[in-house]
Amino acid sequence: MSPNEAQEVIEDLRKKLDQYNYEYHTLDNPSVLDYEYDQKMRELLDLESQFPDLVTADSPTQRVGDEPLDAFQKVQHNVAMLSLGNAFDEQELRDFDRRVREGTGEEVTYVCELKIDGLAVSLRYEDGVLVQGATRGDGTTGEDITKNLRTIRSIPLRLRKPETIEVRGEAFMPKKSFLALNETRESNGDEPFANPRNAAAGSLRQLDPKIAAKRNLDIFLYGVGRWQDESTRAHSERLQELKKLGLKTNPEWKKCNDIDEVIDYVHSWVERRPDLDYEIDGIVIKVDRLDQQQALGFTAKSPRWATAYKFPAEEAVTKLNKIELSV
Ligand code: NAD
Repeated sequence: MSPNEAQEVIEDLRKKLDQYNYEYHTLDNPSVLDYEYDQKMRELLDLESQFPDLVTADSPTQRVGDEPLDAFQKVQHNVAMLSLGNAFDEQELRDFDRRVREGTGEEVTYVCELKIDGLAVSLRYEDGVLVQGATRGDGTTGEDITKNLRTIRSIPLRLRKPETIEVRGEAFMPKKSFLALNETRESNGDEPFANPRNAAAGSLRQLDPKIAAKRNLDIFLYGVGRWQDESTRAHSERLQELKKLGLKTNPEWKKCNDIDEVIDYVHSWVERRPDLDYEIDGIVIKVDRLDQQQALGFTAKSPRWATAYKFPAEEAVTKLNKIELSV
């Protein structure tokens, strides 16, 4: 492909991806499957790596999320809320592991966690009291949704110790609540939500907190934005500390000594995924030691010390099954 041809394809992909991002992140109303989005993003990444001169700062490959809604007060994140790199198969997980080991020059231990399919949020506690909750937004600026987040019963309004900390996690709607909500909506003649992720995001981005309060939302906290804490040296220790503070963490995380153990964990969850009461769309793999995380650093969009293995999208599989059945 000539650079001119590439430029044309790139511009077309960027236009489409910008539109999909807006529908998904700002309107909570996607028009295409995640699988389709991921494929187009892949295509764009491949072309940009073949033609690095054509990379621009505003390309969707360089940006997180989309603009926050004007309806909410804006929140500037002290520490950017980033996205995650993706791996779609075993080879890409091994490539990630190789990059990490080359980057640190050391062996590494990983923490694997379920990738909860909800809305990324940040919670700020001052002296143990919840003072602010925000969406990720475009990574730098989010929306103040404190009133809505306060309606989630698993979010403590006061921690068990008077810590000042900014924690990050995923707010989500359990499958059972999602099915019940859609049943009610349909019997009222309202449009049902496409999936629990959209239902959760749509509920938390309502101006009236009474709506969120009725939606039975839940949360898992999985990381720290900012914390003056000298004692923890590893992500796994932090997860334990968050739990001690009274924050809800997901119990299924596992420390893995090498990439083979990571791959076994991933395989085991491909099978067990339907048994969960909430949706996951993959597995997040994080370097455990914080000093190694720091040495690896970040790209413009995501940390180099973590990646997300993406399951083949359930929606796509369901759609494919339907096609097969109808042939
Ligand atoms: P992402 O969802 O692939 O990964 C980053 C996010 O994972 C984080 O922000 C965090 O919220 C979440 N996460 C869940 N569990 C986590 C854990 N245990 N540890 C750390 N993070 C965890 O990236 P993204 O930038 O939020 O969104 C991109 C994805 O969204 C795409 O790959 C696509 O699947 C979907 N999308 C779909 C459309 C569409 O139109 N269908 C449009 C845009 C994006």
